[in-house]
Amino acid sequence: MAVIPETDYEYEIARLVDAYKNAAGRIQRELERLDLAGLSRANAQVALSEVSRVLASLNDESAEWVAANIPQAARDGVARTLVALGAADTVEQAAAVVKFNRINANMVAAAVADTQADLLAVTQNVDRRVRAAVRKVIADSMRANMAAGISGRRTISADILGGLRKTLGDAVNTGIIDAAGRRWKPEVYVDTVVRTKMAETYREATTNEAIQRGAYYAVISRHGAKDACANWEGRIIKLSADAPGDYPTYDSAKATRQIWHPNCRHTFTPVRVPEK
Ligand SMILES: [Zn+2]
Repeated sequence: MAVIPETDYEYEIARLVDAYKNAAGRIQRELERLDLAGLSRANAQVALSEVSRVLASLNDESAEWVAANIPQAARDGVARTLVALGAADTVEQAAAVVKFNRINANMVAAAVADTQADLLAVTQNVDRRVRAAVRKVIADSMRANMAAGISGRRTISADILGGLRKTLGDAVNTGIIDAAGRRWKPEVYVDTVVRTKMAETYREATTNEAIQRGAYYAVISRHGAKDACANWEGRIIKLSADAPGDYPTYDSAKATRQIWHPNCRHTFTPVRVPEK
């Protein structure tokens, strides 16, 4: 069988993650410039408009990234399937003739839309958290100033200012809270979302192309995993529940939660005849 090179999306993923890091840095600097000791709503509004501009441009950039990279993961899956099933000699040769069948065309369109929605939720979340933090800081700053007047001091204390700075910083740094209640830095969350989505898209595209070509089995890749995935390396799965033979399906393997977890690098190579 031809040697099929692994896919590598590190460069592209790093480029997207950098865009989120840069945006977070710009928002952070915008918030740091605020004069918290006497913060007015007008000054806060100027800063929040800048935050919105930064996030809007990040949304455009990431939508474009997703539109280019999710389909690429699907093309890679189809190209490697063509080589695995002997319809092309090399991945380069296969890449030149890749076409999406109807089910893959629909799958890719849905995956692009899903991923764009996931990333949009990230910026919306950051926007909401930053706005809430700025509102809280305005109120706290006003209260602290009143209290400073009572105690005879002229300005609010360094402790309180430090607390206000931290409130603003946290809004950006731990801006994402997932369904399990964990807090994420936006760029770390984005890294996991796109890595997982690209891997899923690759596997689905592979499955759809393989089934259309009459290959109903696949061998799970190996890279010497140390986690629970190790139990699955080199094993055969069925790509369709209807295929004969006592092999787990892709879905039942995934349902064990041992393999194809978020960030999992395991793929599979379609085969026509499952070998022992
Ligand atoms: Zn894995």
